[in-house]
Amino acid sequence: MAGRMADPMSLNPQLAEHDPATGTVDLGRPELVFLLDAAGVLQVVNPHPVSPLPAGAVAGTSVGDWLSKDSGCRSALARAMAGEACSQTLPAADQWFALQILPLKDQVGRVRQVAVLASDITAIKQAERHLLQVLDQAPEGVAVHDGQRLVYANDVSLAILGYRDLAEAARVPLIDLVHPEDRLTVAARLEAVFRTGQGQPWQEERLLRRDGRVVTVEIATVPAHYGGKPAVLMLSRDLTERKDAESKLQQSQRTLATLMSNLPGMVYRCDIDPDWSMTFVSEGATALTGYRPNDLIGSRTVAYGELIHPEDAPVVWEAIVMAVSHGRPFQIAYRIRHASGQERWVFEQGRAIVLAEGALPVLEGFVTDITERKLAEQERDRLLIREQEARAQAEAAQRRSAFLAEAGRQLVNLLDYDAALAGVVRMGIPTLGDWSLVALREPGGAIRCRAAAHVDPDRQELAQRLVGQAPLSSSPQGIARVMETGEPLLVAEVPPVLGAAWRPNDTEPLARLAEVIWTLGVRSYMAVPLTSRGQTFGVMAFGATEMRFGPDELALAVEFADRVAPTLDNARLYLEARRAVQVRDEFLSIASHELKTPLTSLQLAVQTMMGAYRQGGLAELPPAMLALLLERTDKQIKRMSRLVAALLDVSRLQAGQLQLQLAPVDLVAVVQDVLGELRDALALSGSVCRIDAPKQAVGRWDRARLEQVVTNLLGNAVKYGEGKPIEVTIEHEPLVTRLIVQDHGIGIPVTSLDKIFERFERAVSARHYGGLGLGLFIAKQIVTALGGSIVATNGPERGATFIVTLPNHGPTTVPQQTGDRE
Ligand code: ADP
Repeated sequence: MAGRMADPMSLNPQLAEHDPATGTVDLGRPELVFLLDAAGVLQVVNPHPVSPLPAGAVAGTSVGDWLSKDSGCRSALARAMAGEACSQTLPAADQWFALQILPLKDQVGRVRQVAVLASDITAIKQAERHLLQVLDQAPEGVAVHDGQRLVYANDVSLAILGYRDLAEAARVPLIDLVHPEDRLTVAARLEAVFRTGQGQPWQEERLLRRDGRVVTVEIATVPAHYGGKPAVLMLSRDLTERKDAESKLQQSQRTLATLMSNLPGMVYRCDIDPDWSMTFVSEGATALTGYRPNDLIGSRTVAYGELIHPEDAPVVWEAIVMAVSHGRPFQIAYRIRHASGQERWVFEQGRAIVLAEGALPVLEGFVTDITERKLAEQERDRLLIREQEARAQAEAAQRRSAFLAEAGRQLVNLLDYDAALAGVVRMGIPTLGDWSLVALREPGGAIRCRAAAHVDPDRQELAQRLVGQAPLSSSPQGIARVMETGEPLLVAEVPPVLGAAWRPNDTEPLARLAEVIWTLGVRSYMAVPLTSRGQTFGVMAFGATEMRFGPDELALAVEFADRVAPTLDNARLYLEARRAVQVRDEFLSIASHELKTPLTSLQLAVQTMMGAYRQGGLAELPPAMLALLLERTDKQIKRMSRLVAALLDVSRLQAGQLQLQLAPVDLVAVVQDVLGELRDALALSGSVCRIDAPKQAVGRWDRARLEQVVTNLLGNAVKYGEGKPIEVTIEHEPLVTRLIVQDHGIGIPVTSLDKIFERFERAVSARHYGGLGLGLFIAKQIVTALGGSIVATNGPERGATFIVTLPNHGPTTVPQQTGDRE
């Protein structure tokens, strides 16, 4: 800004060329130069095309005449007069001059003259103004400070400080514009700039605005000159907005942090790897897992993946990877192991994000503890199940009692035995299964299926195939065991192995039965005893295809059987009673017929003899005739005696009064005697009897009783032998002796083989064959009393075979040996 300072010595006027006409002196210099004497009178002015001096400023005039009093020039001139060199800018019209005002002193130092050198600085000033205009529009604050106060401030810096214009701002000492707490540092920085001539980088300061508010700015300083003097150029930026934004950011970060730390769960960011390696974990981790965030981040103490329950880990992995691959968020509940060792239920939701282009996606999400909820849910489910079970139980109990009540109602009416059997097998279906059967113990001890039913009419026929089968006694696990022990049996699941083992077409009766049951589709099975009056007389079995029997079904089946048993027992007793009545009636009619026949014959003989007697005496009768009549009478009396004896035997046997006279008896002799007695009857029948026997077969038996047995067996062989040959075999072994009587006559129906040994039981019609049905009954009682056995079979062709087996030493316990016999 300032022009070159002139060397005062080069201004010696004596060396200059003086033009008296113009009063100017050519100093040979480009600037306008003029000299004033000590009194301020213009002495010399060099000629110059442009002069800042007013028109009247010519040599000999005083500065007081043409310089206004308040002009800066005047005070500068006064200072120069006082001996101080100074400079001054002087505006004139459109031009600017820089004045150098130099005191010219004599040898003793008194100021004699003042030289003023004026340089035209209009161009510089214009450039300067242009620069200021640019600075005025700068987006940042620009201000110049000369060490005392502001000498320049653009609009931005004025706005920062809140001043209207520079003049207002310049009145305030710079240091007062600074926040009291920052004043020392600011002063030190400014001083450093002035001292070192080095600028200072951007630094944050707080300033005081005109209205007293504090404004945070960033200031950089650059050393400069202003008005020829060292100054500091200050660049400033208002940080208020940035600070606001920063503080808002901080605040929101604080809020976020507070929120996250108060969240009932863990916010996380992790890599998608089996460890779920955490890169960020919120404070909530501590409560959730028992591990602090730092333990989990980078899997330092434990990897999050290790906390996941081993059973759930694969499910979690699959669910998350699946969601990530479809770009979807995920939600999943699973179990983790808390640091305390407890198991906890958590709920996690999150999604994959890509933090930077090309980077692998990571997971961000939130995990929260839902253990209590889960436990509550589980408790609720448990209660629900319990309630449902209770309801189901109540309903089942109701169904059961309704079923039993209905069964009871129906059972009352079942008096007919066959109807009762058919009724009870149907009654159990479908409540107690798809299929049911009743098996009963027969008089001989065999167990036989008596009735069966299936819920499916198509399978009814198949089920019926079981009826009449009697293999059940050979099954150790089945009906036989129930019959034997009286204990119910439950086979919840019939093993398929068993099913496969039951081959079709197997001839074994058990296999056939099992095959039918398996074909019926029975996969669950139970059997319960039918017990009445302390006796297990039968078994009911139930089977199911879909249902699986359990203790409840078994209990119901037992209750059902308990109600069924008396009904069946009563029906059987009723049937037996009816049969007994029928048999007795039959017996009475046969007995009266049997007694009447000899009686009629007797009566006839007696009447014939009485008629002869009345007409002239018995002697009138021809002797042959009399002999015949007496023989017939004797025969009929014997016949009647036998009948009466048999009847007496029966009643004695009934009363348990069979008495044995044990002594050595030869069975061969007994058979020969009986055959002798039956000679006529044999001849009459046409049968021939062959004997195959040792010479003797002696045992300790009762001869008369043994004769009865042999008579009955041989008598029957003659009676039912149809005139075919009869074979009698005696086998005498060391311990036992066997009598086998075989004929080739009518044979015995299979169903009657057991029955014929019972009282009054007959397997033939009374019309064709006479007889009381007592012979075999008596025979069996005698053989049993002798410690032996008697069985009947049918021969391979026609005819019946009776086998009597007797221990040679007689019975082990013997009824009374004394007492009379009739
Ligand atoms: P009955 O007086 O009727 O012969 P039993 O007790 O001697 O009485 O025999 C009972 C039944 O056994 C007979 O009614 C008959 O039906 C049958 N029975 C006995 N022996 C034979 C036989 N050898 N052949 C065929 N049936 C026989």
